[in-house]
Amino acid sequence: MRKFRIVWRRVKVKRKKGNALEYKKYKEAARNLADNRISYYNKLYGFAVNGVAIKNAKTRWGSCSKKGNLNFNYKIALLPEAMADYVIVHELCHLGEFNHSKKFWDLVGVAIPNHKLLRKKIQNIKL
Ligand SMILES: [Zn+2]
Repeated sequence: MRKFRIVWRRVKVKRKKGNALEYKKYKEAARNLADNRISYYNKLYGFAVNGVAIKNAKTRWGSCSKKGNLNFNYKIALLPEAMADYVIVHELCHLGEFNHSKKFWDLVGVAIPNHKLLRKKIQNIKL
């Protein structure tokens, strides 16, 4: 009898995007959360939001374009409420200040006074 040697190789696949199934599962919840919290906090700020998109990004919780589009990672739906609110308010405030200046953080602080702590916490969560 011939002997076969089976070699299993662990193949590292580089992911640009997150898990597709999980994305499908939580996308709607993330959209509802983002829409609800944006309309809640924007009563305070009154920024012009052009659109909100939920993405399956590998490295970002959120982003904001100069055209007024806010993008959020679907994983905001899996965060504790205070942290999800921080991400949402952070991106929303970029519509007022397109930078991370003191003025920007003052804006964030209006709605989220403990933003510094929340930022540190969220930086420790692996996406
Ligand atoms: Zn930012």
